[in-house]
Amino acid sequence: MKAAQGKPKRPLPPPKNGMLVRRLIPVAYKVYNARILLINNLRKLMKVVPVKGCKYCSEIHVGSVGHPFRTCRGMMSDQRRGEHDWGSTLVEAVFLPVEAYHIEDRLGKHIPHEQRFAVPRIPALVELCIQAGVDLPEYPTKRRRKPIIKIGKNEFVDADEDDLPEPEPDKFKQTLLDELHFDEIIAPSTPEETAALAEETLEAWETVRDGALKLMKGYAVRVCGYCPEVHVGPTGHKARNCGAFKHQQRNGQHGWQAAVLDDLIPPRYVWHMPESGEELQRELKTFYGQAPAVVEICIQGGANVPEKYKGTMRLDIGIPSSLKEAEMVI
Ligand SMILES: [Zn+2]
Ligand SMILES: [Zn+2]
Ligand SMILES: [Zn+2]
Repeated sequence: MKAAQGKPKRPLPPPKNGMLVRRLIPVAYKVYNARILLINNLRKLMKVVPVKGCKYCSEIHVGSVGHPFRTCRGMMSDQRRGEHDWGSTLVEAVFLPVEAYHIEDRLGKHIPHEQRFAVPRIPALVELCIQAGVDLPEYPTKRRRKPIIKIGKNEFVDADEDDLPEPEPDKFKQTLLDELHFDEIIAPSTPEETAALAEETLEAWETVRDGALKLMKGYAVRVCGYCPEVHVGPTGHKARNCGAFKHQQRNGQHGWQAAVLDDLIPPRYVWHMPESGEELQRELKTFYGQAPAVVEICIQGGANVPEKYKGTMRLDIGIPSSLKEAEMVI
């Protein structure tokens, strides 16, 4: 039992030792660019695939007239008997901009409460890409070229890097995409163009989700157990801005736990519109399936349904044309 004590400790692996996980650097670049492509494409697609948003709550619907279900809890919803009041919406309602603090050293000290307004907030997914190796001049972050040296259980010093030669140009570096300007967002002009755009958009969505999951296995992401706040880094932050109902009891401190992919990239499920093209009927709610909003937009744009979404979309279930028919089936 005691034998282990005398042995030299095994060195920490990256990224715990302050170094980047080399095999994840290309993944980080891929996710970064796929995210931009996804946003740009969604903006174009949403010019031809209608997406509605409720004026009083966060509900969205992919389709031209909104859905009939009485699930609204927004302002004056009782006067509408729970019906949503549909208007237009933006890409941010579809692909949610989950934000997090940008930290300049992922091994650095906690962000204290007092500094919460001095630290920039950026999309959490971008922060994850930065920490995993994407260099963005506007959001610098510490890159060590030698592992840290532990001097205690929770303390370390940086190794002396003076003896290292000038760094070679980063071979992983890729050209980064930019978000389109307003006047560059041009709607596809034919159904074929729309379908091709929809396929590319769906691919970008999958690349972002799969890639982010890979990055999260190497780089810790935390989420508050009481509110949606996300923190990219091995420990949570100390800003006492927890928005949860009972936050007073904890002095506004977040309760950090390990995040899952859906915390970072919420899938945002919406109703899947039946292939028949018929509008949804309130009475037939139990027959309808759901899909992540991005996926539903792409499918309505003409993309093929990926196998993994077929289950929740309930494509195997025949939808009766009326309640009467439904009752006859049962
Ligand atoms: Zn609503
Ligand atoms: Zn922190
Ligand atoms: Zn919280």
